[in-house]
Amino acid sequence: MATTEMGFLHGQLKERKGRLESVIAATPGDANLQALLHEVDSALDRFAAGTYGLCDSCHESIERDRLLADPLIRYCLDHLTKHERAALQRDLDLASELQRGLLPPRDLRVGTWETNYHYAPLGAVSGDYCDLFPAKEQLYFMLGDVSGKGVAASMRMTQLHALFRSLIGMGLPLAEIVEHINGFLCESGISGQYATLVCGRAEPGGEVELFNAGHLPVIAVQKGKPQLLESTGFPVGMFRDAAFTPLRVLLGGDDMLFLFTDGVSEAEGGDGEYGVERIVNLLCRNTPCCAGDAVSACLEDLRAFVGTQPGTDDVTLLALRHLSLN
Ligand SMILES: [Zn+2]
Repeated sequence: MATTEMGFLHGQLKERKGRLESVIAATPGDANLQALLHEVDSALDRFAAGTYGLCDSCHESIERDRLLADPLIRYCLDHLTKHERAALQRDLDLASELQRGLLPPRDLRVGTWETNYHYAPLGAVSGDYCDLFPAKEQLYFMLGDVSGKGVAASMRMTQLHALFRSLIGMGLPLAEIVEHINGFLCESGISGQYATLVCGRAEPGGEVELFNAGHLPVIAVQKGKPQLLESTGFPVGMFRDAAFTPLRVLLGGDDMLFLFTDGVSEAEGGDGEYGVERIVNLLCRNTPCCAGDAVSACLEDLRAFVGTQPGTDDVTLLALRHLSLN
């Protein structure tokens, strides 16, 4: 760790010691405060001995970010105490619960549109993004995949969720929404963290406008025939001046849009990758009777393909079906 950072941490500890001592003087007899002061003193002792920032167990350096976040920690990630491990797990569980709370209703129906999705993070949290948002007569849908994995990717996902919903609420055209999202991610991102994204707006008459920014193709099934709506731009958050081109498609009664993340198409089975073609064939061979049927048929097929191989990525599927008006 740099000398300036060590100086900063030393200053933090001395300041904490001073504060604790004055609080303890005002309210003597508080065992928790005494224990905390003891910990701060022992960290200052380690500073004096030149062992501060080294793991008590393996004597290697403790991760810099963790130490800056909590100057009192004494173990590296590999040697967390039972207590610290439990605290970390609680944090993750809470983040996971929070992320699940952002998902739309499972069987959302808006006017002539019926939807269903499956969202399965590989770990506690996911960088996959799936959302449905009705506004007036229209249904907005979003599916994306943030680069990277774990907590950082999931934080980005929650940003996308909040951004989209507020921009839609402002009544902006979809093209402007995508531009705003791209600009925001470019300006506020960790470099190299971008997101592939499909976002669309479905109208009651079956018209759909969508943007595919660097994502896998969206499968449109019209009268049993597939059409692949391929990406027309870079992922969002990659280039500030990127242009995004809309795609338009008209869905009749019982036609469907099917979206997925690479955790589906790149899932490994005994015969290589699952692939996009397999999903296309599945959807066109037996026209699913509803959106939920399309999602579960694909999931079932994917599970049979993957077999006992462990998953390596988050899996998200989203189906939107335009109901026939009769
Ligand atoms: Zn260690």
